[in-house]
Amino acid sequence: MIWAPEMETMPRKELQLLQLRRLQQVVQRAYERVPFTRQRLDQAGVRPEHIKTLDDLGRLPFTRKSDFRDTYPFGLLTVPASQLARIHASSGTTGKPTVVGYTSSDLRVWAEVCARCLASSGAQPGDVFQNAYGYGLFTGGLGMHYGAELMGLVVVPVSGGNTERQIMLLQDFGAKIIACTPSYALTLAEALDARGIRPGSLPLRYGVLGAEPWTEAMRDEIERKLGITAVNIYGLSEVIGPGVSNECIEEQNGAHIFEDHFLAEVINPRTEKAVEFGEVGELVFTTLTKEALPVIRYCTGDIASLDPNPCRCGRTFVRMSRIMGRTDDMLIIRGVNVYPTQVEAALVGVAELSPHYQLVVTRQRTLDELDVSIEVNEGFTKHLGGTFTGEEAEVQELTTRCQQKLLGVLGITARVTLVPPGKLPRSEGGKLRRVVDQRKL
Ligand SMILES: [Zn+2]
Repeated sequence: MIWAPEMETMPRKELQLLQLRRLQQVVQRAYERVPFTRQRLDQAGVRPEHIKTLDDLGRLPFTRKSDFRDTYPFGLLTVPASQLARIHASSGTTGKPTVVGYTSSDLRVWAEVCARCLASSGAQPGDVFQNAYGYGLFTGGLGMHYGAELMGLVVVPVSGGNTERQIMLLQDFGAKIIACTPSYALTLAEALDARGIRPGSLPLRYGVLGAEPWTEAMRDEIERKLGITAVNIYGLSEVIGPGVSNECIEEQNGAHIFEDHFLAEVINPRTEKAVEFGEVGELVFTTLTKEALPVIRYCTGDIASLDPNPCRCGRTFVRMSRIMGRTDDMLIIRGVNVYPTQVEAALVGVAELSPHYQLVVTRQRTLDELDVSIEVNEGFTKHLGGTFTGEEAEVQELTTRCQQKLLGVLGITARVTLVPPGKLPRSEGGKLRRVVDQRKL
């Protein structure tokens, strides 16, 4: 079902007018009330009244994670802390956490977008909802909790972990929909299997999975082992928490961004210019309705692309692809941005390959070379008769096919070397070092 059809299926022309009006308001508010933002805009020579069309968004300076750190804890708020209704924080890798504040109006908006997520994931009012996201300072648990209450679900606030109890509650309370991370969904699936509980024998039908990147292969495995339809939810605390976008069960092909609340751009992280629809780059969000902590052009560090094509579910909101990596992982090869996970995406449907590959980047004089080594799977070596020299006609053919697929996705030519299973060097933990950059940059 569509929770807010009047917004989620709004004609795009109308939506853009709404976005512009809200953008003007949010920039005005931040400029007037946040000295940090005022200073940034002044430095960029932009004033709120310069925002006349949505294209003027590109004139506004970016907000980055470091800005949260530099203004810790409350420097980006538009209201005194005493006017907040709640504070969340995400653990930083170094030092202080990233702090986000919400007014009661912000909490209403947040519940609204999370209700939309649950509805597009298959939930219907009256369904039992097992919320296995962590409750606490982390935004996942409480964000989904209030969204679920708003849409009339029966919430089981079990929080994360304790697989034994999760399984008992799934059986006894009969949740039809569960929210957790994809890796925890797999843990649950394996635990059910170990207890001889068949997928499909529980009332569970839908999974809203997110808070970490995952792949289509993982989706297949989760759906098969849990007997559910699994969709991707995306969000980040700096923007609001969970509820920025969610896939629909109709297509399961990219998460619809709730564009009446969040204005999305994808930029080339190097040039900082917006890229075309379909092109891969860094996701950037501007909040359109948040009071306490509006963010203007927040650079997420997440790599994805946007798809404006109409969707079978009827929503008119653009869809974002899966997160293909982080800007920190980006390689620049012959002037082209390359994300290691694109290699995986390019080769995912090739039946003869294993998921193990390695990228080696070298530089001969001034020219960058990309070598991609990929392990074939056992089935393929068996097909070859158990031996693998690399000279076989089948190997040559497969190499060419891989090369073409990589060229299609990366936009540059890579040298492909196929190797037998288990041949690529593993580190101590059995993990592969996926990228080896031998250039002296
Ligand atoms: Zn859809």
